[in-house]
Amino acid sequence: MMKYYALLLLAMLVRRAGAARRRRVLRADDISLRSIESSEFASSIGDALVLGREVHQDVLGGTERCSSPSKAWLLEKSSSIESEDLAYFFDNHLQSLPFAYKLYVADRDEDQNFGSNGKYTEQITQIHSKSQDFWRDSGAEDDIRLLGAHGEDLADRDKLIPTLKMIFGRSYHNGYTVEEHATEIQDLIERLPGGYSNPLLTFNAFFSNDAGAILIGDGYFEFQQSQGLESVGPSYAVTHEHAHHLQYALSDFDSDDISSSDSRKKELMADALSAFFLYHDSGGDLYGAEIDRIYRSAYSVGDCEIMDEGHHGTPNERRCASMWGAELAASSDASIIDLLELKSRFNLWYDGLDYHCTTIDSSSASTLSRTTVMTLIMAGTAATWLGL
Ligand SMILES: [Zn+2]
Repeated sequence: MMKYYALLLLAMLVRRAGAARRRRVLRADDISLRSIESSEFASSIGDALVLGREVHQDVLGGTERCSSPSKAWLLEKSSSIESEDLAYFFDNHLQSLPFAYKLYVADRDEDQNFGSNGKYTEQITQIHSKSQDFWRDSGAEDDIRLLGAHGEDLADRDKLIPTLKMIFGRSYHNGYTVEEHATEIQDLIERLPGGYSNPLLTFNAFFSNDAGAILIGDGYFEFQQSQGLESVGPSYAVTHEHAHHLQYALSDFDSDDISSSDSRKKELMADALSAFFLYHDSGGDLYGAEIDRIYRSAYSVGDCEIMDEGHHGTPNERRCASMWGAELAASSDASIIDLLELKSRFNLWYDGLDYHCTTIDSSSASTLSRTTVMTLIMAGTAATWLGL
């Protein structure tokens, strides 16, 4: 629930700033929005604006700086938007509309593309196909669809209007029609930097169990590109979300339950499974600088709200989890692709984890050969049970 509080708090802050003009706030259909706005990323925009300052965590009497690259980037991207426009943006769930269009309105059979001009389509579809094959024998046999969300879809009124009806249908009446609402939304988007390609419209990625689909927005890819991660970042994005599907197969996690105190565990495990597959030579077969960028991709989406029950793991913990997954794939136990076994090993590792989780310098990891087992120093546990 904390994510909603963050958004609410944000709404209050911007509402105060934009109090000069009376604002119309429509009632949205919470059920339709739940799977979109309970995702790991959906809260990031609100959190970034409300809580995104760098925070300091106490560590054994000292302090350790925690800074989330994704939140710093979102803060920067939103800083040039007028507070009144930002308030309208969130009141009207603009950050969810491209995803709602894909989930509820778009033709299920239409071709999908990823990133602007489809530049990541090939990378995403190839790695997803490999990932499905890799995990198929682990009880995750479903065919998972991939859906790309694009801000540009909102420029087309034939797409926007049915989406608005789906989300706000009960709010329209003769005095305020869906056509007027669509015009207001389009006017606002056209004032944003970059207009329909503004990344705040599509900074999200999630697995929808109801739709059996992974959705990834262009805004997320733009963030990865800004961090120098575009060569393999999209592979991380899709395999991390696929790991959330695997968690349904394990039925230990309810991905719709945003108040779950297991948010951190769920995300770290998804990072670990993603990296296990991406490093494994029967999987993504990444190594050297490429696997290092996977660790950095995981690091980049960590958050620093450690007191928040919806906390998703600090950047350091996210990187540690992905390094742990790759390390397991590199070890003599790499033949284990059984999900239950992986889960119990992950649980052992996780139970010994605190945020001392320290990895070797990531730049040196890229210079190690595949057969060299990397050293993780974290609460002294992983190294012992892995027999390293
Ligand atoms: Zn996740």
